Amino acid sequence: MVLTDTHTHIYLEEFDSDRDKSIQRATDKGVKYLFLPNIDIDSIENMLAVCKKHPDFCFPMIGLHPTSVKPYFEQTLETLYSFFNSQKFYAIGETGIDLYWDKTHLKEQERALNIQMEWAVKHKLPIVIHSRNSLNEIIKNIKEFNNPFLKGIFHCFPGSVEQAKQVIDLGFLIGIGGVITYKNSGLAKVVETIDLKHIVLETDAPFLPPVPYRGQRNESAYIHEIAVFVSLIKNIPLEKVAEITTQNAMELFDLSFGR
Ligand SMILES: [Zn+2]
Repeated sequence: MVLTDTHTHIYLEEFDSDRDKSIQRATDKGVKYLFLPNIDIDSIENMLAVCKKHPDFCFPMIGLHPTSVKPYFEQTLETLYSFFNSQKFYAIGETGIDLYWDKTHLKEQERALNIQMEWAVKHKLPIVIHSRNSLNEIIKNIKEFNNPFLKGIFHCFPGSVEQAKQVIDLGFLIGIGGVITYKNSGLAKVVETIDLKHIVLETDAPFLPPVPYRGQRNESAYIHEIAVFVSLIKNIPLEKVAEITTQNAMELFDLSFGR
């Protein structure tokens, strides 16, 4: 069984004391591919160092997280973009819009998202979207961007069945993580309704751990718990959930299966 964690921040300091062991635990659980989203200018060197140490296992993305869109963000984006000169990336991300804390910087976040959508199309890479209280704004921006080559993942998808259908119509996949195991998350309904071919699994480690690890640090080994939950909701064998969601990720990130 091969599982894939399409979204893990294993390069963060939360893993400094046991990163290699954490990777080993993931491997022991059948997790074979980890995709690492970047956050800002400070995270990139650590992220690339982890990928360099585990080149067949960890695959980097490049992007600016919406909560890291600060004054001079265009300069920050230029600096991030310069890493393309010396590095292969598997996706643009994470980017998106986050209106949880306040809406004052919506315009700047939209601008940063649009610049990163342009990178995605230019480099033929998928885009990994972070959304928080902003699903409709993001859908609107993607529609206005209106490029058939744009594809990607709505990571940690927070929406309704109706919104999931809109996202799929845009050519995007739905990222399902630990939140699926929380009571009243509403996500069980989404997973039940949409076809597995539109779903990828993720942890968002060290954040959002699945039951029974709530309150603890999340890690990529727990993809297993998330996959079990999805298999129960959909009444499909665990191995099949692993196979299809990994296949979805391999196709999106353009990695050949069994590498
Ligand atoms: Zn993330």
